[in-house]
Amino acid sequence: MASIFTQIVQGEIPCEKIFETDEEIAFLDIMPSAKGHTLVIPKLEVIKLEELPESLAISLMRTLQTVATAVSKAFDGIDYNLILNNGENAGQVVEHLHFHILPREKDSPAPFRNKIKYAEQEMQEVGARIRNYL
Ligand code: 5GP
Repeated sequence: MASIFTQIVQGEIPCEKIFETDEEIAFLDIMPSAKGHTLVIPKLEVIKLEELPESLAISLMRTLQTVATAVSKAFDGIDYNLILNNGENAGQVVEHLHFHILPREKDSPAPFRNKIKYAEQEMQEVGARIRNYL
């Protein structure tokens, strides 16, 4: 079954469309956290960022910059977060890769606040662990 966002891409479900290229579409979030909360998605239905072919990831980032700039200008140069909930444990509900452009007013609630502390040497170990895959 096609994802709800693929159904939007195919015009089967309406959306408030902001921008479209051959590879991406951007539309307003139906349950926004702020006015102007916009989603930018690749038309190719993949769940996670790492599943997206590199050329499409580059294209997605270009479109993300274009749309985020417009969202900001539309609200007097407002600041914003770019959020990707990449996987269920990261809060992803719709299983079709999407970036949120989330406008942020002064003193608006931060989307992530929890902090952890690395133990002694742990930061270097974590750094090495990640670099191992590059
Ligand atoms: P996630 O938690 O997966 O990162 O976020 C999914 C987002 O998609 C939510 O913010 C939700 O409001 C939005 N959403 C879900 N269904 C629809 C829909 O049918 N249309 C639009 N425009 N947004 C949707």
